Amino acid sequence: MSSTTKHLTKSKDMRQPLIVGNWKMNGSLAANQDLLLAIKAGMDKATCGVAVCVPGPYLQQVQQLCEGKALLLGAQDVSAHEQGAFTGEVSAAMLRDFGVRFAIVGHSERRQYHAETDAVVATKAQRALSAGITPIVCVGETLAEREAGQTHAVVKRQLAAVIHTNGHCISEIVVAYEPVWAIGTGQTASPEQAQEVHALLRAQLSAATAQPERIALLYGGSMNPSNAASLLAQPDIDGGLIGGAALKAADFLTIVAAASH
Ligand code: PEP
Repeated sequence: MSSTTKHLTKSKDMRQPLIVGNWKMNGSLAANQDLLLAIKAGMDKATCGVAVCVPGPYLQQVQQLCEGKALLLGAQDVSAHEQGAFTGEVSAAMLRDFGVRFAIVGHSERRQYHAETDAVVATKAQRALSAGITPIVCVGETLAEREAGQTHAVVKRQLAAVIHTNGHCISEIVVAYEPVWAIGTGQTASPEQAQEVHALLRAQLSAATAQPERIALLYGGSMNPSNAASLLAQPDIDGGLIGGAALKAADFLTIVAAASH
């Protein structure tokens, strides 16, 4: 084992793996209950952190259903504003009222359909941190950017904005590398492709904080029961952000089990 690999492996041992479900705009009171009861029933052997990021209207329901289990509650977005005349927005303090521990910021669907810029994403991360919520900062390149050889430049730029705005708090974030071309497409980055970008992000974070080992780096993009173990075995992949497979209890639990070794 090279000294670099040894160093990375040691750091990985210090980080608890984390599996986060992103339900997107899916669910109903009845479906959520069935899904969560099944997940809770199968979580006894989980040693990794497990969270579900649910649509806003279901926060209270899911908060109650998660009670007493090591299943943490997350939101899929947070306002860049603190409070006031921002119709339709939900503040970090409001999320905190429901026991929210994580908030996804900068998901590619928000960047794409809601024109969220790097600066807005960085401010959202800041709002979450101020309320004691861990932002899960999503970065990732489109297929066109990958094919143009811009992957490294794109993810570095996206993460740099968050580092710039959040300074010494940066060790409190979680980062999710989500290649846009892999989200919801069934096309997953290979473990080598994902590891290469994760190593780059790890190096960027190491230059920004004295405590880079605190930061979990998740992979997201069609992670499923068949590919989870090989992705999670990579030295810089600490967990997963799971979309489609988070809506099926058996699939989600298989991924949780793969992260629990
Ligand atoms: C996501 O939306 O964050 C995601 C990773 O989705 P999927 O797993 O469905 O690709």
